[in-house]
Amino acid sequence: MPSTVKTRYFSQFIMPSLCVACGNPLQTTTYYKEIRSKKSSWSGKYTTEVSVKFPLCDHCAQIDESNPWYLTVIGILAGLLPVGLCLYAALIGFNADKNLLTGVIMYVVTGLPLVLVFYLVRWASMNPEKRRLNRSVRVNNFYKGGILGNDWIRFNFSNDLFASQFSSLNAGEIKTK
Ligand SMILES: [Zn+2]
Repeated sequence: MPSTVKTRYFSQFIMPSLCVACGNPLQTTTYYKEIRSKKSSWSGKYTTEVSVKFPLCDHCAQIDESNPWYLTVIGILAGLLPVGLCLYAALIGFNADKNLLTGVIMYVVTGLPLVLVFYLVRWASMNPEKRRLNRSVRVNNFYKGGILGNDWIRFNFSNDLFASQFSSLNAGEIKTK
């Protein structure tokens, strides 16, 4: 069951001696998973960013580092192919009635489903262990840059043991769904 932990935003968090992904005790403190989250102000003028490093056990670190070649290929295709196909569609649309708007519409209409399909394929081809690892911790929301002392951050953890230890070490509030 996933847990949500809200704490003050510390520049340094106290980490449990557990792996954030599987909850097993750490043998070494060599590996970590870094998570980042970004937020822009409504005007887009200011961006605040948080980044926190969570400990990983040796086993999970290996999974995290493993990156099969086909995933890299799919990743590149996922980025390039839709753009290429959309440009092609836009060109056809534009040529059909010499209207820029038709080109733009063709671009968007072709682009959205293609991007979706490629990300789905990419997700499906991802190793399930790696998917579990990617889900182990996320920044749910945060507030930073206000009056001193009221900055906060909220994390989602998939491992309850890690979540509860992390919460008590950092004076957090925990909610388990
Ligand atoms: Zn682990």
